[in-house]
Amino acid sequence: MTFEELGLSPRVLTGVRSMGYSEPTPIQREAVPHILAGSDVVGCAQTGTGKTAAFVLPMLDRIEKTGTIGALIVTPTRELAQQIADTAMKATRGTGHRIAVIYGGVGYEPQLQKLRKGVDIVIATPGRLLDINARGELDLSSVKVLVLDEADRMLDMGFWPDVRKIISLCPDSRQNLLFSATMSTEVLRVVRSTLHEPVMVETSPAATPVERIEQRVYPVNAQQKAELLVTLLDRESLDKVLVFTRTKHRADHVHKVLAREGVSSAPIHGGRTQAQRQKALEGFKSGRHRVLVATDVVSRGIDVDEISHVINYDLPNTAEDYVHRIGRTARAGASGSAITFLAAEEYETLAEIERVLGERLVCEDVEGFSYGHRIVPNPERKVDTTPRPVFSSGVMSHRGGSRRGGQRRGPRR
Ligand code: AMP
Repeated sequence: MTFEELGLSPRVLTGVRSMGYSEPTPIQREAVPHILAGSDVVGCAQTGTGKTAAFVLPMLDRIEKTGTIGALIVTPTRELAQQIADTAMKATRGTGHRIAVIYGGVGYEPQLQKLRKGVDIVIATPGRLLDINARGELDLSSVKVLVLDEADRMLDMGFWPDVRKIISLCPDSRQNLLFSATMSTEVLRVVRSTLHEPVMVETSPAATPVERIEQRVYPVNAQQKAELLVTLLDRESLDKVLVFTRTKHRADHVHKVLAREGVSSAPIHGGRTQAQRQKALEGFKSGRHRVLVATDVVSRGIDVDEISHVINYDLPNTAEDYVHRIGRTARAGASGSAITFLAAEEYETLAEIERVLGERLVCEDVEGFSYGHRIVPNPERKVDTTPRPVFSSGVMSHRGGSRRGGQRRGPRR
């Protein structure tokens, strides 16, 4: 199927050409026609599936170029806002819609000036958008399309009261598009309270990037994690490496250890300023830094192609975060590896991740590494395969408890 067949107008197709896409991804094939038809849409899709273009492209055919805000995209992090803006800038090449990107951590004045001049599309994080509203500088009364991007993450981050306030500033007649990597009970509650007879679309599980990622687990004593990381980095095949830690302090610590060992790295987490984050990301993208050390707060904003390895220095708290983290590698059809350092106190989290993936992850040793005392998981351990709700295109039905991971409907057989 081609983009032309999706029903997009010639001016939007001009944008598609400048983006260099030859054919739509599954989420684009499913979502675009419904959005063009004016339906409310719920998209269950992770970053990396092409979900941004899935809402940006048809949205351009739904709004006029008037200089008043016709489309509002609300997203949880600054990095995501910037990433959506990058896609939107290219997509609008043939339409000329004007865009404002609104997020915190930078000065107000340039953002206000942009709004005062008149824009058609606003891409924003909730906090700053409400600050600007409180200053009397925001008029959302002409919004026709409202996009709630990464709804699960906005809920996790406690943004829902802010988002609800933003929704109340938009006209009731608007079209709602909600995208979320997972469909937790909370997300479904939001869908029911906010959207009007939504059409559900999702990427087929077989197409999710996690399929293409080689996943390995290295059981290690917690005190030896830094040493193990340095040992792995000594190997040439680890090219462009994204390391995740549980806290920002641990991210800074890993960065310092690597600096001491002569490995070029940069930390990126919620404790860094916007300018520092951008610099870290750019340094990593350009290859100046071989390693980027991140926490989960910023993981979704990391849209870097060619990440060869994701290393979970610490396991994340939830299986969803695990899936998001490892989804940073193997992008755009490339292959990638995810390596998890597993300390004894992280076994329970591993069991939850395995439950969501529906498979047991392989535990291995790093050859030549001198391990101290450690406990190794039972290689015969069973994976809990409790059924989770089914969520499929066009209909929503439930089987059993809440679906936690958003990856896979049942055990892999
Ligand atoms: P997203 O899921 O929106 O974060 O997109 C992930 C990556 O896929 C981005 O780098 C996009 O530029 C790219 N992408 C999106 N749609 C397509 C497409 N139809 N063909 C090729 N690449 C795409």
